[in-house]
Amino acid sequence: MVEKKKLSVVIPMYNEEESIGPLFDRLFPVLEGLDLDYEVVCVNDGSKDKTLEILEAELKRRPNLVVVNLARNFGQHAAVMAGFAESSGQWVITMDADLQNPPEEIPKLVEEFKKGHDLVGTIRKGRQDSRFRKLASRITNRIVSRISGISLQDFGCMLRGYSREVVNGILQNPEYRTFIPALATFFARNPVEIYVRHEERSAGQSKYSLLKLFSLQLDLMTGFSMWPLRILFFVGSFMAVFGLVTACLILALRLYYGPGWAAEGVFTLFAALFFLVGCQFFALGLLGEYIGRIFQAVRKRPTYILGWIKKAEMVEGKGA
Ligand code: UDP
Ligand code: MG
Repeated sequence: MVEKKKLSVVIPMYNEEESIGPLFDRLFPVLEGLDLDYEVVCVNDGSKDKTLEILEAELKRRPNLVVVNLARNFGQHAAVMAGFAESSGQWVITMDADLQNPPEEIPKLVEEFKKGHDLVGTIRKGRQDSRFRKLASRITNRIVSRISGISLQDFGCMLRGYSREVVNGILQNPEYRTFIPALATFFARNPVEIYVRHEERSAGQSKYSLLKLFSLQLDLMTGFSMWPLRILFFVGSFMAVFGLVTACLILALRLYYGPGWAAEGVFTLFAALFFLVGCQFFALGLLGEYIGRIFQAVRKRPTYILGWIKKAEMVEGKGA
């Protein structure tokens, strides 16, 4: 008999006490029906509500459940990293705890794995979020794929699949602040994007405030590209050249029309100013370039600090 593949489902949880029940009630039957070995790795990301208690209670009822408890709140992507580190499946699927990613879509991702894809990206169909969030995402997706050169249609949907090789790649690259869907594309050999349903948050509130959202976009931007720094460089170069050309022009006019023309040197002053400001920007940009390189080189900090890990202990064997 061929050995069954193992699927790991990684779910970050931050104050999701109301979601866990409904989530597990839908998730576990789906996984049972897959004819795969599986585990569900729930990462408690420093929740302040009863999330952890509920998860610990579930450990007694659910085989195949692993709970990873982080020491405090480190953010969604760090939590997913912690889950990756503890997952052991050949295929790993991440999803949100709030049922915005319907568990019923998991078999679709598994199908893509079976076809040999090692990264299954997803595009949200009928996205159920506020208009503002949708607009913000659309702009981000555009900018990010432009800037980072990663062509994904939807970075935001966390119902995604990664093969063990991709997960290991991500884990070996423990950046301090990162954005997993984007990072994963670096390690993928055979990626695919599919459409998945998207639902309204089942309970509780979005854990992303405007500020957190903004900081996530910044992570994405600075983490995967040096363009924001290079813009400085280009603006500086342009201004310096512009200043120089103006200065030459003024000099020529001054020589042609005589000293009376140049408003007693005021024009010359402007030209010199343009040139100097341009040089300053240019120098800043150059510095920025070096800082960017240093930044790239030092991105080796740990993403999270582990609290503890507990695994379900069943009296009967799990079926060897
Ligand atoms: N989450 C987390 N740590 C955080 C924020 C969020 O683990 O600091 C989890 C959260 O519990 C959920 C997922 O990340 O499972 C997505 O969060 P949310 O649904 O609030 O984001 P949105 O759907 O609004 O983008
Ligand atoms: Mg959500």
